[in-house]
Amino acid sequence: MNTNSSDFSNFTESACTRCGDCFHYCPELKLPREEARREIKRLIRSSKTKYVLQYCTTCFSCNLICPNDCKPYQLILERWNELYRKRGAPSIYRFVCPSLEGNIWEILYQLMPSDEKKLIQKWMKQEKKESILLISSYLHLFPFVFSNSSLLEHFTPVDIIDHWECGGYLYQGGYLDVVHKIAERTKEDFKDWNVKTVIPTLDAVEWMLNDVHPSEMGIKHDVEIINFHSWLLSKIESKSIVLNRQLGISVTLHDNCFSKVGGGKYWENPRKLIDLLGCRLIEMRHIQKYSLCCGFGAGASWTQHFRIVFDILYCSKKKFEEAEATGAQGLVTYCGGCLYLLWAARELLRSKIEVFHLVELVRLGMGEKIEYPQKHIERAWDIIAIINYHVILSLFRRNFWINQIKLKEFQSKTHSYFSVIIIRKLFSFSPIRLIYARLFKILLPIMKTQRSKLYSIK
Ligand code: SF4
Ligand code: SF4
Repeated sequence: MNTNSSDFSNFTESACTRCGDCFHYCPELKLPREEARREIKRLIRSSKTKYVLQYCTTCFSCNLICPNDCKPYQLILERWNELYRKRGAPSIYRFVCPSLEGNIWEILYQLMPSDEKKLIQKWMKQEKKESILLISSYLHLFPFVFSNSSLLEHFTPVDIIDHWECGGYLYQGGYLDVVHKIAERTKEDFKDWNVKTVIPTLDAVEWMLNDVHPSEMGIKHDVEIINFHSWLLSKIESKSIVLNRQLGISVTLHDNCFSKVGGGKYWENPRKLIDLLGCRLIEMRHIQKYSLCCGFGAGASWTQHFRIVFDILYCSKKKFEEAEATGAQGLVTYCGGCLYLLWAARELLRSKIEVFHLVELVRLGMGEKIEYPQKHIERAWDIIAIINYHVILSLFRRNFWINQIKLKEFQSKTHSYFSVIIIRKLFSFSPIRLIYARLFKILLPIMKTQRSKLYSIK
């Protein structure tokens, strides 16, 4: 397959009336009608945009908003892909490149307690049986979400970080040619492992395997790929998994960006699970089709390395404000990527709302003990320390291209990341956490990120 960027587009230009609905009703941009029309025309012409390529949070909403099903988000991806080919990825993106030295997984391994290290080693290396659970790269950052759970007795948990979530987050940012290579690699791995059923914990990964790889990358997998939440529900209904505790708490649910693919088919199952767990669901103002990004996606439309952190936190702040306004006790996410961002933001914003992964609630309903919340709090500060390290480094590094997708050998690096360890040690002290969070709070409005200028055009 020729991996020229134009091969990937499935934006239907012929059906586009240039009405501007996509960016006028975009939950993030909300551009005035005429500006929205001009932006779609700029995108189609491949000329410089004023807002979309700069501020899009990769939320997929515009694909659902378009009345003619033109898929404008695919056009954004194509244009980002062109930019990536021309100028490369921003140096800070190394953070989430598992094949490059200094990635978040490699550094975090240095900070993890030994029981978590052992678990990760097991998940990465053990022999694969017929049915596998693909632990996501981002849940890898929180092995305690699944550790010691009887849920894992149903399959072999497999944790392959250089599957890059089967290309999920790269796809979201327009790194389409790299996604193609990942799709090829994934197919080879499934064949080598001789597995028959793959259950990814992430809806995003299931979508990549069942839809994007075959329909956009031309690569069909010869395995059955099952949605994790559908699997959970069917096991609960058949009593293979027994919920013997009603939780009786109020929660609000974060619909992640990838939940909007497939016309919204991923929204219902987590809600059914929440109901079965005896939780009272209080919805946020923006949900499902119009759900706001947790902040993670704001990193895709990067422009300046230093500001990216403030840009992300701007989006997280809006999410927390909506979640807190519901008065719910807990904010629940069913995406591992959002989990790490939400916990880091919760610490920096000093929010009091509890943040759970849906699996944690299911485990509580099963009567299992979970390690909550201390592990999450400490992990959030691990991640904040690593982000600090990367932001500083990115000031001195150039953009780069992702030429290698495969990791040679996990954890073989001798680099000790001494500076991260020192930053993390400082973050062990509560007063330093408090000062750091306060500093962020002060800097956030002062930084006046590009995103805040966007809000002022409304
Ligand atoms: S992509 Fe759809 S919503 Fe956007 S301008 Fe075209 S027709 Fe309108
Ligand atoms: S993907 Fe989301 S944030 Fe980006 S333009 Fe579309 S609706 Fe707006």
